[in-house]
Amino acid sequence: MGRVIGIDLGTTNSCVAVLEGGKPVVIPNSEGGRTTPSIVGFTKTTERLVGQLAKRQAVTNAENTIFSIKRLIGRTWSDTEAERRRIPYKVLPGKDDTVNVEARSKTYTPQEISAMVLQKLKLDAEAYLGEQVTEAVITVPAYFTNAQRQATKDAGTIAGLEVLRIVNEPTAAALAYGLDRQNKDHCILVFDLGGGTFDVSVLQLGDGVFEVLATAGNNHLGGDDFDDRIVRWLIEEFKNASHIDLSGDRMALQRLKEAAEKAKIELSTTVSTSINLPFITADNTGPKHLDTLLTRAKFESLIADLVEGTMTPTRRALQDAEITPQDVHKVILVGGSSRIPVIQETIRKFMGKESDRSVNPDESVALGAAIQAGVLGGEIQDVLLLDVIPLSLGIETVGGVFSKIIEHNTTIPTSKSQIFTTSADGQTTVEVHVLQGERSMAADNKTLARFNLAGLPPAPRGIPQVEVGFGIDANGILNVVAKDRGTNREQKVSITNSGKLTAAEVERMRLEAQEYAETDRTRRELVEVRNQCEQLMYSCDRTLHANRDLIRPDLIERVETARADVKLLLDEADPSVENLRQHMDQLQEDLLAVGASIYEQTDIPLE
Ligand code: AMP
Repeated sequence: MGRVIGIDLGTTNSCVAVLEGGKPVVIPNSEGGRTTPSIVGFTKTTERLVGQLAKRQAVTNAENTIFSIKRLIGRTWSDTEAERRRIPYKVLPGKDDTVNVEARSKTYTPQEISAMVLQKLKLDAEAYLGEQVTEAVITVPAYFTNAQRQATKDAGTIAGLEVLRIVNEPTAAALAYGLDRQNKDHCILVFDLGGGTFDVSVLQLGDGVFEVLATAGNNHLGGDDFDDRIVRWLIEEFKNASHIDLSGDRMALQRLKEAAEKAKIELSTTVSTSINLPFITADNTGPKHLDTLLTRAKFESLIADLVEGTMTPTRRALQDAEITPQDVHKVILVGGSSRIPVIQETIRKFMGKESDRSVNPDESVALGAAIQAGVLGGEIQDVLLLDVIPLSLGIETVGGVFSKIIEHNTTIPTSKSQIFTTSADGQTTVEVHVLQGERSMAADNKTLARFNLAGLPPAPRGIPQVEVGFGIDANGILNVVAKDRGTNREQKVSITNSGKLTAAEVERMRLEAQEYAETDRTRRELVEVRNQCEQLMYSCDRTLHANRDLIRPDLIERVETARADVKLLLDEADPSVENLRQHMDQLQEDLLAVGASIYEQTDIPLE
């Protein structure tokens, strides 16, 4: 078994970590950063940029730069109206009411876009470890539905990674916090507010066992929403001052979004910040500039209801875990948005204690994923993770009632079955409508699947016995079996309504991604060879400059020609790595000859 990496696939940023000597460490990316923006940009020249490079060109290429894809993955078109409204790239309905994105006239599923981010993390990990990586643990928000989990797993497969386990983000953060504190009996609350999702989990820790007692959250709340509030405020301000509505201008929107995020982050350490966007638009009187001041107090008033909104799931998680804030020993903050002072203050007041700052909120989830990777890979033996499902699962029964089969916060893996019967005389088919949620009526919950069990022998109602069994694996992914006890006839479904990518589709996407991995590898190689060439040219110039008098003229000419050849190639837009290497080797050889000839001339023996 090779090394298993742990990946925090974030809405805004992603992070990859691995175990080294029993301790998790973050793997830096090829640009030297410890986290990688979860952004993919498609350039005019059909190049695909991922991470920092994609972020850098987002303003000038807003329509072809895909960010926050995690807000769309595994979700339906009808469920994502609010998200879709605020993104500058094109989205269109996908298969089975899912959402696809379009860039440079090509359509992609969210799984494919996420796979591009994962692929970069995989490549960076491979470069760091010096070996191929094929297995990973990936984290998802605890509140991710079955479809979102399955879609994330598919993204991993497309990127060429076998996803050994999907772990909930707050649970991973708790692992990172608790690895060194395993022997203390501890009750911890993880408050995880990222770019697009909010999770809160309560865990009991002791003797190496990390047991999730309860989890709650909101899949639609995060830092992007705070940015959005600032953007809307800026649009309003600008409209009042110059009577121009910027809300339909994609490029302006992208600039506003970036400026809003920057201002928000600054306001975590300062009490006011200026937002200055020259040439944001123009009308017949000339160019228009946006220049305004945002104070922390104003920002806090803009997001007050959202901040207050985080307390509802916090309260629920404590209630479900049957504990009070006083029973919690440690509060751990995770996710970039937990750095906002008003958020910290709100939690402090509610919990009656300061939060723990020993774990880095940007890295703890990836570190925890790496620990779980170590557990699965056998490197760590004394840690046991007991996670739970966030929402109840069940089926629709007569009268549109939601009958729960597995309650939320049940430890996984788990399985449970219940016997149901027919509601009409002579009924030979039953429909199994699988749902997820907490509401008592089926219509108010989320449909995961519908299937029929046919071929029941006709009998009076209430007589047939249909056993419906639910099994949830360690990833939180559900399988359902319905069996007629009379005939033993059964029907199974694996709940994978993630836009229902078939195995063949996933395989096709995986092969395509592999091709890109090749391109990415070549691009990385090219950058490395380019650097080596530049260095060699530099040392060539220095050698010639310092020792010109000591070098034979024919050798000078040879070296200068070789240097010029390398330079010529470097100036080409897309030189072949092979060609560059050859010329670099030639220059190196000629330089060695120069070195030798210098020494020949100064061959004065030492005493
Ligand atoms: P994550 O998904 O955990 O990477 O969190 C990303 C979110 O955190 C984004 O919305 C960022 O704008 C936000 N964020 C990062 N740093 C800060 C900060 N210092 N203050 C406020 N928000 C931040």
